[in-house]
Amino acid sequence: MNEKQTIVIGGGLAGLSCARELRTAFTLIERDSRLGGLCRTEAIDGFEFDWTGHWLHARDPEMKNLIEHRWLVGNLLTVERRAMIFSEGMWTRFPYQHHLHGLPAKTIAACIEGFVEATLGEAGRGLRERPLTNAAEFIRRHLGAGFEEYFLRPYNEKLFTVPVEELSPEWGGRFIPRPTFREVLRGALGIAEEGAGYNATFWYPRVGGIESLVRAIESDVRALDGAVRTNAPLESIDLKKKTVTLSGGESLPYESLVLTLPLSHAAKMLVDAPPAVRAAAALLRAVSVTVVELGVDDIGGAPFHWAYFPEREFPFYRVGSPSQVNPLLAPPGCRSFAVEFAHRGPINTEACIAQSIAGLARCGLLDAKRVRMARARTIEAAYVLFDQNHAQARACVLDHFAAHGVQVAGRYGRWEYSSMEDALLTGRAAARAVRAPRDP
Ligand SMILES: Cc1cc2nc3c(=O)[nH]c(=O)nc-3n(C[C@H](O)[C@H](O)[C@H](O)COP(=O)(O)OP(=O)(O)OC[C@H]3O[C@@H](n4cnc5c(N)ncnc54)[C@H](O)[C@@H]3O)c2cc1C
Repeated sequence: MNEKQTIVIGGGLAGLSCARELRTAFTLIERDSRLGGLCRTEAIDGFEFDWTGHWLHARDPEMKNLIEHRWLVGNLLTVERRAMIFSEGMWTRFPYQHHLHGLPAKTIAACIEGFVEATLGEAGRGLRERPLTNAAEFIRRHLGAGFEEYFLRPYNEKLFTVPVEELSPEWGGRFIPRPTFREVLRGALGIAEEGAGYNATFWYPRVGGIESLVRAIESDVRALDGAVRTNAPLESIDLKKKTVTLSGGESLPYESLVLTLPLSHAAKMLVDAPPAVRAAAALLRAVSVTVVELGVDDIGGAPFHWAYFPEREFPFYRVGSPSQVNPLLAPPGCRSFAVEFAHRGPINTEACIAQSIAGLARCGLLDAKRVRMARARTIEAAYVLFDQNHAQARACVLDHFAAHGVQVAGRYGRWEYSSMEDALLTGRAAARAVRAPRDP
């Protein structure tokens, strides 16, 4: 291999986008046999499941254009979000903050009183006047005690597996709709305006599931003057010698290095990492997600694309219904569900399957006797845990890589909470940073 190579580790969306933008003299190294990372689709018994529902959004004009007019040209559905919440025995629409109508009167009163107190009242003044220290304060400051009690605390604690006091205020702020008083009031009266929240419409492929996006980008990458290696797990990184070593012992020199594998793993692979970097890497925590995929006879029931389950009586936090987004993802007369459980450490997947079937049957979504297929899969590091150590530990590891000229990209490479488009954009940005000194 020529020594002017850029090595890109990880063939998910970030790595693929990076390789595509590099155009030449790159080697893309992927651990698995197939490119795509988390962006993949599996078929079973006539059902197709992504890992889990992957709904596509794009805000960057160039990325939008590539998705719409190149990668998924003629293969895109534009879908209007149907997201719901199951709470207190009934369905309401997402965002909860905008759709209190129909909930018990005591819940509506608590949410409105808490909101007014937090945003205007004397009791909320303290939090309005000082910097917020954790997610519980963020929720209380912007939404109030009622929304906290009925939705935001139980939901976030189920998803992140820790008390909201342990999460930093940056844990997900940009994704949490913050309504005005008018919106809360109209939502309580059942005259909410539609489309609140960050994802009111989204794209999804007509055929091939979300993996069709990967296959299109992969074909761009394979047409370039670079190498793609699958089944090639990275084992160690030597920043001084500027080499990476693959499992099996093969050592590859690089001129530039781009990492898209999880930051915590990359840091642990460093040869001669300073103790402070090792200590910081050990503090980077993530939540695993076990998803139960169910294919069932369609018995009707709430017609959501995905639904949130904040209450503790349901051990899962969210349920997707891929066949509601694209009916081709299930055989005729059937419906599919992806039931998500968050955890740290091992989980009993057989119990997850049983709890999913029982829970969805209780909400009128399936008949337990008419389940056609059920299986569970686990995504080991699905959500970065924005705990109180996150910002400092992440900055320490990122600074170390930056000091050695290494680029990081992607959701796990950058150790953040972000979307497919963000993975594509950060991959592209990493390639541009590599090319900048070379390009005229
Ligand atoms: C449950 C869930 C639902 C989601 N839903 C959505 C959604 O609806 N919409 C949306 O936009 N985004 C969604 N996302 C986010 C989206 O999946 C990610 O932002 C995106 O796929 C990340 O791409 P990536 O390339 O950064 O990382 P990955 O996809 O994780 O790619 C990293 C690659 O690195 C490889 N790798 C790891 N270790 C090594 C090693 N040692 N050597 C070589 N290669 C290695 C991996 O095999 C993998 O292929 C969701 C994520 C999760 C977890």
